[in-house]
Amino acid sequence: MKLSLATRIFLGYAVVLVTFGAVSLFSVAELHRNRLEIRLVSQGYLQLSQDAATLESIHANQERDTERLLEEGSVETRRALIRLARVYLPTPMERLRAAQERTREMRALVPAGEVQIVIQELESRFGELANRYQSYGRAAEAVFTVLSSESPATEEVSRATAELRQHQASIGSDIHRLRAALSNRIRERVDGAEDRERRTGLAIITLSVLAIGVGLGATAWSARTLRPVRTLIEGVSRIGRGDYSAQLGVRGDDEVAVLARSFDAMARSLQAREAQLKAQAEALMRAEQLAAVGRISAQVAHEVRNPLSSIGLNVELMQDAFERATFESPADAREARELLAAVTREVDRLTEVTEQYLRMARPPRPSLEPTDVTEVLASVLDFSREELERAHVEVVRELTPDTPRALADEGQLRQVFLNLLRNAREAMPDGGRLTIATRVLERELEVALQDTGRGMSEAVRSRIFEPFFSTKEDGTGLGLAVCQQILKAHGGELSCQSESGQGTTFFVRLPRA
Ligand code: ADP
Ligand code: MG
Repeated sequence: MKLSLATRIFLGYAVVLVTFGAVSLFSVAELHRNRLEIRLVSQGYLQLSQDAATLESIHANQERDTERLLEEGSVETRRALIRLARVYLPTPMERLRAAQERTREMRALVPAGEVQIVIQELESRFGELANRYQSYGRAAEAVFTVLSSESPATEEVSRATAELRQHQASIGSDIHRLRAALSNRIRERVDGAEDRERRTGLAIITLSVLAIGVGLGATAWSARTLRPVRTLIEGVSRIGRGDYSAQLGVRGDDEVAVLARSFDAMARSLQAREAQLKAQAEALMRAEQLAAVGRISAQVAHEVRNPLSSIGLNVELMQDAFERATFESPADAREARELLAAVTREVDRLTEVTEQYLRMARPPRPSLEPTDVTEVLASVLDFSREELERAHVEVVRELTPDTPRALADEGQLRQVFLNLLRNAREAMPDGGRLTIATRVLERELEVALQDTGRGMSEAVRSRIFEPFFSTKEDGTGLGLAVCQQILKAHGGELSCQSESGQGTTFFVRLPRA
C-alpha cells in the first residue's frame, strides 16, 4: 500500500496519541476503581461494623436488663421494668433495618462480579439475625407475661427464662460472627486495594515507558521519513550553484523520492545542455577562426595561382628549347631535363594545393544528376591503377550489380573517391588490400572503402574532418574536409570507422536518384 508522506506522519502521531490516550484512560479507570473501593470500605463496611458494634452493646444492655428483671422481687418494680423493656425491645430491629438499607446501597459500590458474594452474604446474615430477633421478641414477651403476675409459678418462669437465654446466646454469637466477618472483609479489601495500587502503579509506569518509547519511535520514524527532504534541499541548492553533476539518488516511491528523481532528471538534462552549449560555443569559435584562415588562404591561393600557371607554361617552353639545344655531354642534358621535371612536379603539386584551398574556400555548387556510381568508381580506379600497383595495393571490388543511380555531381564525386583512394594508399606504405563494396539502402547508396593500413587512434579519428588537420609531413589536411563538404552539399554523408593498426573503412552515402 502506498501512503503519502502526510498520511504517514499523521499515522505516526496518531499511534503516539492513541498510546498516550490508552495510558491515561487506564490510569483514570484504575483511580475510579480505587475511589469506589475506598467508598465501599468507608461508607459500607466501616459503617456496617459500627452498626454491628451498636447492636452488640444494645444486646449486652438487654441481657443485663433481663438478669435484673429476673432478680427483682417486687411486682411493682418488675412491671415498671417490663414496661421499659417493651419500649426498647424494637430498637435492635430498627438498627438492623438501617443496616439492611445500607447493604442495599452498597450494591452500587461493589464491582458487578462481586455482588453475589459480598452483598448476598451480608443480606443473609442480617436476615438470619432479624429472624433471631423476632424469636427473641416472642420469648421475651413470654417471660414478661409470666413475670407480670403477682406470684409467678417457678416452673413456668424457669422454662420461659431458659428459652429466652438460649435466644440471647445465639444472637450474641451471631453478632460476634458478623463483626468478625466484617473486620475480615475490611482487612481483605484494604489489602486488596494496596495490592492493586501497587500493581496499577507498576502498570502505569510500564505503559508510560512504552508510550514514551512509541513517541520516540514515531519521532525517529518521521525524522527518517523526512530526511530525504534535507537531501533534496541540499541537492537543489547545489544545482542552484551550478553543480549539475550532483545526483540526489533518493530511493522509494513517496512524493519526496518522485520529486528527487525529477530533480535528478532536470540536473542531467541541464548538464547535457551545458555540455552542448559549450561544444557549440567551441565549434563556433573554431568556425570563425577557420573562416578567417580560409579567407586569407583563398586570397593567397588566388594570388599564387596565376603566376604558377605562367611558371608552368614557361617551364614547358624551356623543355621544348632544351630538346633542341646542344649540351656538352649527355650527362649535362640528362641533369637539365631532370631539374626541369622536378620543377614541373613541384608546380603541379602547388597547383593542386591551391586548387584544393580554393575549392575549400569557395566550394562550387554541385549540379546533381542521376549518376552511375559504380561507373565513376571504375573510371577512378582505372585512372589510379598504375599508382596503386606501384604502391603494391591490391584492389578487391565487391560491387553490387545493377546498382541504382545516385543523385550526384560526377566531377565532385570523382574528386571524393580520388581523395579517399589516395588516403588509403598513403595509409599502406608497404602495400595492402583495398576492398571497395557497394550497398543499396532504402533511400541511399553506400560505398565502403576498406583498407588494411595503419588505422588511427580515437584522438586522430575525431579530428580528421577538421580542415588543416593532418598527421602527414606534407599533408594539407584538406582532403577529407573537402570530401565532407562535397557530400553534405549532396545531401549525403561521409563517415569513418577505424582502429589503430587494424585498418580503416570510409563510408560514402549518397541519396538515390
Ligand atoms: P591529408 O591527407 O592531407 O593528411 P586528409 O584530410 O585527407 O588530409 O586526412 C586527414 C588525416 O586523416 C590524415 O592526415 C590521416 O592521419 C588520416 N587519415 C585519412 N585517411 C586515412 C586512412 N585511410 N587510414 C589512416 N588514416 C587516415
Ligand atoms: Mg589526404
